[in-house]
Parts: sequence; structure tokens; C-alpha cells
Amino acid sequence: SGDRRTTPDAFVRVRGANENNLRNVDVDVPRDAIVAFTGVSGSGKSSLAFGTIFTEAQRRYLESVAPYARRLIQQGHNPHVESITGLPPAVALQQRRGAPSSRSSVGTVTTLSNSLRMLFSRAGTFPDGFTDRLDSDAFSPNTAAGACPECHGIGVAHTVTEETLVPDPSLSIRDGAIAAWPGAWQAKNLRDITIALGYDVDRPWRDLDPADREWILFTDEQPIVEIAPQRDRVAKPYKGMFWSAKKYVFHTLADSNSAKMREGVLRFVRTGICPLCGGSGLRREALAVTFAGRTIAELNALPMSELADILRPTTELTDAAPALTTSSSGERTDVAVAITTDLVARIEVLIDLGLGYLGLGRVTTTLSPGEMQRLRLATQLRSGLFGVVYVLDEPSAGLHPADAEPLLDVLEQLAASGNSVFVVEHNMDVVRGADWIVDVGPGAGEGGGEVLYSGAVDGLAEVTASVTRPFLFPGTEGGAVESRFLRSPTDWLTLEGASLHNLANVDAAFPLGTFVAVTGVSGSGKSSLVGGVLHDVVRRHLRGDETADQSHDETTDATEPGEAGPVEALPDGQAEVPAVRAVTGLDHIDRLVRVDQKPIGRTPRSNLATYTGLFDAVRAVFAGTDLAHERGYTAGRFSFNVAGGRCETCLGEGYVSVELLFLPGSYGKCPTCDGARYNAETLEVTYRGKNIADVLALTVDDAAGFLEPVPAASRSLRTLRDVGLGYLRLGQPATELSGGEAQRIKLATELQRARRGHTLYLLDEPTTGLHPADVRLLLAQLHTLVDAGNTVVAVEHDMDVVASADWVIDLGPSGGDAGGRIMAAAPPAELVRHPSSRTAPYLARVLS
Ligand code: ADP
Ligand code: ADP
Ligand code: ZN
Ligand code: ZN
Repeated sequence: SGDRRTTPDAFVRVRGANENNLRNVDVDVPRDAIVAFTGVSGSGKSSLAFGTIFTEAQRRYLESVAPYARRLIQQGHNPHVESITGLPPAVALQQRRGAPSSRSSVGTVTTLSNSLRMLFSRAGTFPDGFTDRLDSDAFSPNTAAGACPECHGIGVAHTVTEETLVPDPSLSIRDGAIAAWPGAWQAKNLRDITIALGYDVDRPWRDLDPADREWILFTDEQPIVEIAPQRDRVAKPYKGMFWSAKKYVFHTLADSNSAKMREGVLRFVRTGICPLCGGSGLRREALAVTFAGRTIAELNALPMSELADILRPTTELTDAAPALTTSSSGERTDVAVAITTDLVARIEVLIDLGLGYLGLGRVTTTLSPGEMQRLRLATQLRSGLFGVVYVLDEPSAGLHPADAEPLLDVLEQLAASGNSVFVVEHNMDVVRGADWIVDVGPGAGEGGGEVLYSGAVDGLAEVTASVTRPFLFPGTEGGAVESRFLRSPTDWLTLEGASLHNLANVDAAFPLGTFVAVTGVSGSGKSSLVGGVLHDVVRRHLRGDETADQSHDETTDATEPGEAGPVEALPDGQAEVPAVRAVTGLDHIDRLVRVDQKPIGRTPRSNLATYTGLFDAVRAVFAGTDLAHERGYTAGRFSFNVAGGRCETCLGEGYVSVELLFLPGSYGKCPTCDGARYNAETLEVTYRGKNIADVLALTVDDAAGFLEPVPAASRSLRTLRDVGLGYLRLGQPATELSGGEAQRIKLATELQRARRGHTLYLLDEPTTGLHPADVRLLLAQLHTLVDAGNTVVAVEHDMDVVASADWVIDLGPSGGDAGGRIMAAAPPAELVRHPSSRTAPYLARVLS
């Protein structure tokens, strides 16, 4: 990558950056180059790359396009920096994002679907009797012209389940356990009715009687009860009618005139395939049109690599004819050649990025954040933009080491066409391929915030204070993986004839009481095996077992593949069910915990403190203060989810939405509480000099000292620090957390319980977002779990982790239909000798 010259004036110059933990940072980074930002978790990489450079670039850009947006932007965020010069406009491709739209798919995100529809409209083969060509809209299930009349383009039929209606069973009804119920005053109303009916709305949902849970969620009965006046809200008694969550959801779906409300409840609905359109969501007329002998629904369901193979012959036509709207087929016309050429070129970029196994119809909610980011990256490559700075968050996430090179190629193409590519990255292979490195550190939080080095990659070798150095230059002190004795399995869990997605009749054996790494290139079937079949088999076994721990799958939420809302079974119609012919060894497992990267909550009302249970301890501490006693404040007063203590302007959210024409979904700080979430009276109560909002603003590291006298809180905080999350704030909304952070919070929550053995832990790339130094810490934690007799099965790309496993199951050989087989299963030292394993050479590098 050394051939792009960076001239001295082509620099972004940052002066006096003080965002978050940054300590008056001055740094110059070259434009039109790949710049890697490195450092341990919490060192300040994101504060520099995203919080300072990207935020400032975006602020300037918005100011230039929409002068009246100035007002809004000032409400938002101005980075703490003296000056930045040489800054181009920025595009951020960050992994941490809000709720994805249920209608977006690989095809819509990449806009490949538009072209494919155009291809069918202009160049498809129409059946006899069609006098007019269909408009390209007619091939979209998202338009009135194209949508199947039975399912309105959704492709599915609906049902609801407890998991969909109650995504977080640790919440009480008062705190919003029944996510499917309506919001605002209606929520209070339903809650009061539920109280009047004699149910406990303050206990965590999962602790309620199963029969009561069943009734509250699913009954068709609609009793009418008298509601007593409560505090300041209702002046006189009134009658209220009960709606079970199910009743409410279906009523809204069927009768609501508001598309927004229907969309809102749709996410609580679980689905099967629509019989009329076979799940494609399309009208019969559209399904009668073919290209290369296939319908558009069939092409949408194919992996993109196969789609490209099908379209390629058309791109090579030498006898293409001018298009005629009157002929029944346009397949051999110049229009077909033009559209397929464009499609194939764009798909090839996606194949290079290791995404060729995805189909266009695959809904984006089933993609990992890393896959999603690479999809958007590929789309940018074709946008033709130049003079832009792209700020990327760990683009290597989810990539096998074999795919790091094509990723670098794509980044280089972006840079070569005159863009700046700034990546926050932990994968040392990618970092080595960058033109420039900015190493931030040395530690996290207060212990970091300095730029230790900014320059060509090789120069970091001289910087002894850098924690990154030993990993970038193996051989320097501290980089090598320690060898250790392998554990012998206590038993084996075997799956015979496992099938799901691309796994066809696979036999797999998992050694229990050990640490198992599952490896393979993207799309080879790792998640299908671990998160799909293994998870399903064990969960079913435990569900049927009366003695099983009720909380065994509490970390499993409704967003898991094949199980969630309507989205899973959208046009690709591939909501497959895991299948297995025979299983042995299940009796040696009595609990299942899935620690994945799915968000820990879908609203800003869930946060680090509420999820871990830490907040209960904190609220109890505040309720125990003298002033709280004096005023009669209970722990409930210190919840921002309940009327009483919270700010009523923002209903405890801390921000209010600001509607601006060109900037949909913008939020501003609540003018009443200034983001504190609580009302002034509540904030008057302090513990050791801090009010409840101050405590939520503390980082885990700071809170560990502050809450030391509170044993229940200290324990949670210690485990959070153990997994490298000391830099997070207690009140950090769940929606702002990256997938990797969410996963580590789940892990910490699990570690703080300190259970006996026989639990099966399933992890999905636990090292995402972690610096190699943090990976070491995490590994120590995982090995502690295994030493206690538990089993850890982790899908992983980080070879340090794989090398430290007791057993490796390597899938391959490639992605999609060219994968789905077990290439080798052995301890790491043996796997490296396996000739057909694509993982072996990379593993050998860290083992030698
Ligand atoms: P990195 O990207 O290196 O993991 P960050 O830049 O995210 O690190 O964080 C650096 C420090 O700044 C951490 O101590 C973190 O807790 C703090 N921090 C990050 N975001 C915020 C925020 N929005 N408000 C306050 N502190 C923050
Ligand atoms: P890996 O975890 O190794 O990246 P996956 O198990 O995610 O691989 O994918 C294996 C194959 O199954 C791929 O072809 C992928 O497109 C397909 N697949 C995975 N999840 C789904 C899903 N929810 N719907 C349809 N196809 C899927
Ligand atoms: Zn249909
Ligand atoms: Zn407020």
C-alpha cells in the first residue's frame, strides 16, 4: 500500500482535542490514506476518530447544507477541540446503531434490488398473454403495485409468543416488561387495570406465576374493572378494559389506521410463510416473469455469488439486440447486458468483502453488525464519492483471517480514489496494511487519552509505552501466546445429521468441560451450527426438563435467527428450522446461556446498570439516605421509568425528539431536566455528594471506588471491569452499545453469578471490539468458567483465542453452499497439520 504518496499539506490537523478522556491531543493524520487508530478498549480511539474528527466533519457539513440546522446542531454535540484544519466531509460507518428497519434487506441496503427489478421489468421473459411489461415497482413487495394481496408484501402469517411480547423478562410490568403494550398514558392505564385485577406489577416478569403470565399475555377475555384514583393522575374513579398483549397486537394490526402503529407492533409478532406468495411477498403476475429461467424471488434467495454466476453469461453477449418493449423477452438485449454488467460488478465487490454467501433477500436484522458494516462499505465504493473521510469501526469484525486481505483491497480502493479512510481496528493484519497508525493510550479512561504515536506503521516498533506494539510486532516482549495443558473432556455432546441453512446432515461432537473454538470463513456455517442447531437442541432439552433452571435462556431474546418478528421470514422465505437426527450427551448439561452480540435492550430505557441488576442496589442506597426517609421516597422514586421521580417532560428519557424536515429522528437534550432524566426534587437526594443522575454518569471504573461500600454493586462492577468494560458509563443506554460491548455485558452479568458447573455457554465472536491486550483478559475469564466445570463454545476468528482453546471445530471449505462441512476437529496443535483447513496456516502463525 506504499504507493500512495501523502504530501505534507494533505493532512487533517487536530489541535487541543479534549473529548471525553482525551488530554489536549494534537495530532496530524494524512488524507487520502488508510489510517488505523489503535489502543485498548476505552483508551480514547473512538473519542478521537468518531467523537472529534467525524463529529466535527459532520457538523460542518450539515451547517453548509442546511443553515437552519445550526440551531439543532448546537443542541446536539460540539466536539471539545480547539481546531481542526484540512477536514473533508465525513461518512461514518459505525457498528453501533439504532434499531434497523424491518424492511431493509441486503438488496435494499446495497440498492442491488432496484437494479434487479429493473432487469425483470425491462429485460425479463414474460409469459404468453402478457401484453404490457410490468413496471419495476411491480417486482417489489414494498409497493402497492407489487405486494401480495394476502400478506401485503410481508410474506408471512403472524403469531405471538412470550419471547416476542416480553423481550426482557427481568423487567417488571411497571418497568415495561410487556414491550408489546402501547406506550404513554395507555401503558399506565393498562398497568393500573392489571393492578386492579390483582397482579403484581413490581416483580420481575420471569418471577410471576406461569399461569398469570399466560393470561396477561394471551387471554381473549376483556374484563372491565374500576380504577381507583391514584396520586395526581386521575381525579375520580373510572372504568378500564383489559387488553392482553396478544389481543392488543392483533387488534392494532387489523384495525389501526396508523402505519406507524402497525409497524410498531409488528416486531412482537412471530411468523410463518404466507401460503399465497410462498413468502416472496410478491403478486402472482410478478412471479410469472423470469430471467435466465428463474423468478425474481428465486434470485433473491440465492447467495450473491451464485446470482453473479447466473447473470454473467448475459454480460458477455456479443449479439445483443436493441430492446423492444413489445417482445415477450428482453433477455438478449443491450438493456439486459447493461444492467447485468452493473449488477455483476457490484456483486463482485461484495464477494471480495467475504459476503458472497448472502442473498439479496436476506433481511438486515439477521446480519451481524460486522456484515452490515461491510455491506455499507461496498455500497460506498460504488457511490463515486471522493474527497470524503470514511470513519469505520472495526471493519474486520466477523472476518476470517483469510478475508482480511480482500478487505484491505477495498479500503485501498477507497483511498486510491481520493478518500480518507480512518479505521478503529484491532486486527493486526489490517493495521499492518494501513498507511499510518495513531496509537492511543497507554491505558483506558483516565489512564489513556494520549496519542503515543502517529506515523508510519513501522515506527511504532520504537514506542515502548505502547500496548499495541507487542501484538503488531510479534517477537517483541509480551506478544506470544502462553502454552498450557489441554483439558480432557468430561463427556461428549454429539449431534448427528445436523441441518440448517448450509449445514446439510453434519455430524459434530463437542467435548464438554472444555473450551471449544468454532472457526471457518464467513458464511461457512459457524453460527448456524452453534447459534442455530446446538442452541436449539440444548434449549429444547432443557425446556422439557422440569428441574432445569428457569433462567437458563434468559439471555436469549426474540431477535434470534428464524424466531423473531415478521422480518426473519421476509421475501427470501428462508426461515428454516434447525433439525438434527440424533443427539447424545444432553444429560450432562443443566443450563444453557447464550452470550451473543444482540442488543441488550431496544430502548434507551435499558442500560448497563439496569441490565446487570446493579441499578437495583444503587436505588436501594438512595432510598436508604436520610433525606429519602424524611420525604418517604422508596427505591421506585429513583427509577427513571416510573412517574414520581422522573422528569415528566421527557418521561425519564433525558432527551426529546426534534422534528426537522431533512433530519428525521433527531434528538435534543430535554430542556426541563437537561438530560438528567429526573425531576429536581429527586435530584436533591444525594449519596456521598452525588445525586442519582451523577451516579448514572459515572464510568464503571469510577463507580467501583464510589460504590465500594455497597457489596451488591461492587460485585457487578468488578466483573464488568474484568471483561474490559471499565470505561462505560453506568447509564449508557443499551441502544448506544456496540455488539461487542453488549456481549461482554451479558458475560459479566453471567460471571457475577458464580454458578456451579455443567452450564453450556455459547459465544459469538467474543473478541469483537477488543484490543489484543483486552482479549487476554477476556480469555482468562472464559477459562475461569471452564475451570469451574462449565463448557464454553465460541465462534471465533481471533487466532490467539483459537490457539488457547482445548478443541477446534473448523468449518468450510468456503461460504454458503460451498461451505457447511466440518473440515477438521482437533486440538489446536493438531489442527495446524490439517491440509484442507483454511484456518490452519493462520493458527500455525500464532502457535509456532
Ligand atoms: P475506545 O474507542 O478506545 O474504546 P472511547 O473513546 O470510547 O475509547 O472512550 C474513551 C474514554 O472516554 C472512556 O473512559 C469512556 O468511558 C469515555 N467516554 C466515551 N464516551 C463517552 C461519553 N459519551 N460520555 C462520557 N465519557 C465517555
Ligand atoms: P458463519 O457463522 O460461518 O459466518 P452462517 O452460519 O451465518 O455462517 O451462515 C451459513 C450460511 O447460512 C450462509 O450461506 C448464510 O447466508 C446462511 N444463513 C445464515 N443465517 C441465515 C438466515 N437467518 N436466513 C437465511 N440464510 C441464512
Ligand atoms: Zn403473500
Ligand atoms: Zn427531562
